[in-house]
Amino acid sequence: MILDVINPATEELVTTVEAVTLEQTDAAIARAQAALPAWRAVAPGDRARLLRRFADAIDADLENLARLETTNSGHIAATARWEAGAVRDVVEYFAAAPERLFGRQIPVPGGVDVTFCEPLGVVGVIVPWNYPMLIASWGFAPALAAGNTVLVKPAELTPLTAMRIGELAVRAGIPEHVLQVLPGEGPVVGQRFVTHPAVRKVVFTGSTAVGKQIMAGCAEQVKRVTLELGGKSANIVFADADLERAAATAPYGVFDNAGQDCCARSRILVQRSVFDRFMERLEPAVRGLRVGDPRDAESEMGPLISAAHRAKVASYVPDGAPVAFRGAAPDGPGFWFPPTVLAPSSETDRAVVEEIFGPVVVVLPFDEEADAVRMANDSRYGLSGSIWTSDVGRALRVARGVESGTLSVNSHSSVRYWTPFGGFKQSGLGRELGPDAAAAFTETKNVFIATEE
Ligand code: NAD
Repeated sequence: MILDVINPATEELVTTVEAVTLEQTDAAIARAQAALPAWRAVAPGDRARLLRRFADAIDADLENLARLETTNSGHIAATARWEAGAVRDVVEYFAAAPERLFGRQIPVPGGVDVTFCEPLGVVGVIVPWNYPMLIASWGFAPALAAGNTVLVKPAELTPLTAMRIGELAVRAGIPEHVLQVLPGEGPVVGQRFVTHPAVRKVVFTGSTAVGKQIMAGCAEQVKRVTLELGGKSANIVFADADLERAAATAPYGVFDNAGQDCCARSRILVQRSVFDRFMERLEPAVRGLRVGDPRDAESEMGPLISAAHRAKVASYVPDGAPVAFRGAAPDGPGFWFPPTVLAPSSETDRAVVEEIFGPVVVVLPFDEEADAVRMANDSRYGLSGSIWTSDVGRALRVARGVESGTLSVNSHSSVRYWTPFGGFKQSGLGRELGPDAAAAFTETKNVFIATEE
């Protein structure tokens, strides 16, 4: 099986990649298992040094990685550069973990009780196509730091940056087979991570539908699992907010990466008393969004990942859809879709309820604070969200009331590598990044040592 790598901005074939087979997956798992004893035995300071060298190698390759991502995924140059830098930062951050992954000493009668943070073993990381290298790093960096060996399966459409990072790891001195990248099909390679008993944890980022299958499959072996799934996050704008800023930034909160972002604030909830004023300000911000060639430094939004995905996104804007206004998109080759604002009259509209994962946002009015919280929570998802208000008490009340893992007030920031990230409800299970992420790749072992004769 051959994977075609297509440039989504031109529809040109960039390269082809041979998909890893089931037999090759089993062989890679065996190699990862064989590499485990030596890797977990590397002294913490040395493991830290190797990870810092790995971060340096990524840094030295930053422009190349960014270019690969722009070509393979259609990410605008600034985003791709930010992603490559963020991968470096994630590896560097978790390079500090090996020396800090300590257990505890717990007072007990008759002896000494200590706990150890033992590595899990072989970890499988399954990655989606929307942020290919960044999401891979959220799994492999803390897993390696905690002494595990790691297999990464990139998405079929976007294998190039993960493959390059695998090469950089070896070049930086990470021992062979400690980090392996296996481009291939989800139901073949990814599924084998679930069924192979030597893989002790699966880190899955992707759709909620596949995530449920992964979780069910992992249950068979009581396999550890982290799930980062879909989202339908709310951007709540109160009447007392800085309306100019709220409206000027709202397009970036949802249309970044052409809306192919699990944290996209794809439902804008606006207090009714300022609804019209907000829409008047949102319109020029959306129409002014520069959609075009991702290599162009001026572009703010690139294409969608594939023709099939564009068709899915387009299905949410059928003829007669309640379009309030739209931005522009290039004609000609490329999987382009214009930024689109819908103003549906019903809260049960398909575009309001389902994750679109494209540049389509719905705007709905609300009356009271309690209505905003109710509407934000009226979703099976709970990943992210924003709250715009000048009232600190309200900001905190609403932040505590919204059932989401990652919220921002007067900002649309979601992901910082040193703060925890993950979802409530069907947006996921477990947390990535932040100070506790490496611990999620360990088992706690408790040891009692008798001191009495
Ligand atoms: P997807 O679920 O189709 O695929 C994700 C990965 O799973 C791919 O590598 C795919 O090959 C693999 N896969 C598919 N079927 C599999 C199977 N049966 N067994 C094992 N692996 C399998 O998702 P996608 O379309 O690539 O990504 C988009 C989705 O990812 C969206 O729903 C988005 O919200 C979600 N996402 C979530 C986060 C988060 O952090 N919560 C981040 C990015 C994307």
